[in-house]
Amino acid sequence: QAISAYTHAAAQTEVAQLVKQLNGWRREYYTNDAPSVEDSRYDQTYRRLQEFEAAFPDLIQSDSPTQAVGDVISPDFTKVPHPIPMLSMGDVFSLAELQAWAERLEAGVSETVDYNVELKIDGLSLSLVYEQGKLVQGSTRGDGNVGEDVTANVLTIPDIPHQLKQPLDIEVRGECYMPKAAFATLNARREAEGLAPFANPRNAAAGSLRQLDAKVTADRQLATFLYTLVEPERYGITTQHDAIAFMANLGFATNPSSMSTADLAAMDDYITTQTADRDGLPYGIDGIVVKVNSLPLQAQLGNTVKVPRWEIAYKFPPEQAETVVRDIEWTI
Ligand code: NAD
Repeated sequence: QAISAYTHAAAQTEVAQLVKQLNGWRREYYTNDAPSVEDSRYDQTYRRLQEFEAAFPDLIQSDSPTQAVGDVISPDFTKVPHPIPMLSMGDVFSLAELQAWAERLEAGVSETVDYNVELKIDGLSLSLVYEQGKLVQGSTRGDGNVGEDVTANVLTIPDIPHQLKQPLDIEVRGECYMPKAAFATLNARREAEGLAPFANPRNAAAGSLRQLDAKVTADRQLATFLYTLVEPERYGITTQHDAIAFMANLGFATNPSSMSTADLAAMDDYITTQTADRDGLPYGIDGIVVKVNSLPLQAQLGNTVKVPRWEIAYKFPPEQAETVVRDIEWTI
C-alpha cells in the first residue's frame, strides 16, 4: 500500500510495528552478533520506516532506529566515551540514487567537489588511541557516543601496531574484519564442535572482538583496515586520500583501493568494476563508500544526528540466489 494512502492513525500503527521489528533485529545483530534476517531485508524495512517518517514527521519515535547509532552496549565491557562521535552512514541502493545524492550535495557548495571512493569493508568499526606512539586504547563504536573497551583484544590482532613509527598522540578509526578464509575455518571448527556457526564474517568479527577473554580473540585471525584520521588538522592533513596515505606511513593497515576523483562517471566505473570483482577479494565488502575528499569541506558539511552529510554508502544489491530458486519453483 502506498504511504500516501495511509490515514494518520494507520500510519502510527505501522510506524510502531516497524520500529519494534527493526529494534528487535538490531538487538540480535549488534548486541548478540547473531542476526536472524538478511541485511537486505533489514535495509528495505528501514527504508520503509524512513519513508513513513518523512511523510509523517510527528510520528518519529524517540526509540526509532533512524535516531540512533548501533544499539545498547554490553554491560560486560568497560565504557569508553567518544568525544567525537562514531557515526553510522546513509545509504543508496543504485547508481541513480548515488548521482542524486552527489547533485544535492554539490548544489549546496560553491567549490568543485572531489570525492574519495573506498571499499565498504564488512566488519565492525574500531577506534585506536595512541599516546606518544604507543597503543593505549581500543574501543568499539557502541552507541556512537560510548563504546566498549576492547584494548586487550586489540593487542592480539597481528596487523595493529603496538608502537607507531612516530611518537604521536593520535586517534585512528577503521574496520575490524575477519578474512573469508579465517571465517570458513572458524565455522567448520564450530560445526565440528557442535556449536552454532556465525551467520557471516561481519558477525564473526564482532563476536570475536567483543570477547571477555582476549585469548579467544587472538585465535580468530582478525585483521583491520584503517580509514579515519581523527582531528587531521593536527597533522596538516587536508584530504581523505592523504589521510589514508598518512596512516599507512605510520604503520597501519589501509585498503589499497581508495581512489579520488571529481568525475561522477569515473566513480560509476570504479563501482561497476569493484562490484564485479568483489567475490575475488580475500575479505567481504558490502558496498562502496563515497566521501567528500576535502576534510575542511567535510567539517563544513557536518553531520545529522546519525550520519555524516559528506559520505554515503552505495550498498550492493542482495545476492540473487534465493530469488532465482523461488522463480524456478514458481515456473515448475
Ligand atoms: P553501515 O554498516 O551500513 O555503515 C556504516 C559503517 O560502515 C561504519 O560505521 C563503518 O564501520 C563501516 N565502514 C566500512 N568501510 C568503511 C569505509 N571505507 N569508510 C567508512 N566507513 C566504513 O551502518 P551501521 O549503522 O553500522 O549498520 C547498519 C547496517 O547494518 C544496515 O544497513 C544493515 O545492513 C546492517 N544491519 C543488519 C541487521 C540484521 O538484522 N540483518 C540489523 C541491524 C543492522
